[in-house]
Amino acid sequence: MIKGQCLCGAIQYEYLGEIEQSILCYCQHCKLAQGSVAGWNSPLDQSKFRIVQGIKYLKEYFHTEHKARVFCMECASPIYSYRKDLAGVIRLRLGTVTEGSIPAPTEEFFTEQKPDFLDIKK
Ligand SMILES: [Zn+2]
Ligand SMILES: [Zn+2]
Repeated sequence: MIKGQCLCGAIQYEYLGEIEQSILCYCQHCKLAQGSVAGWNSPLDQSKFRIVQGIKYLKEYFHTEHKARVFCMECASPIYSYRKDLAGVIRLRLGTVTEGSIPAPTEEFFTEQKPDFLDIKK
């Protein structure tokens, strides 16, 4: 069981499964959306994901036509994204996880935009 929340705590979620992979993405969209050096995400089965509190605070932003980035409208924490053309999958923002274990990153996307100062030890 995985639990998580946004920064202000208005949004609480749980995932009735385990996180099996974690991915770092260095693309410009992730950097802008997270305000950080990378996005840290995991693709999850949407049917096992549940907002247990604060669904009214979720806001969706479409920077591109098919991809929604979903965040807390109170504190702006990014929670997950999903694609309209990829049913049943969400990509959870792993920094919002507060209970349960997250595996070390196994994949990196857009490494050509990875800052030189980051070096993941394998
Ligand atoms: Zn919040
Ligand atoms: Zn990205």
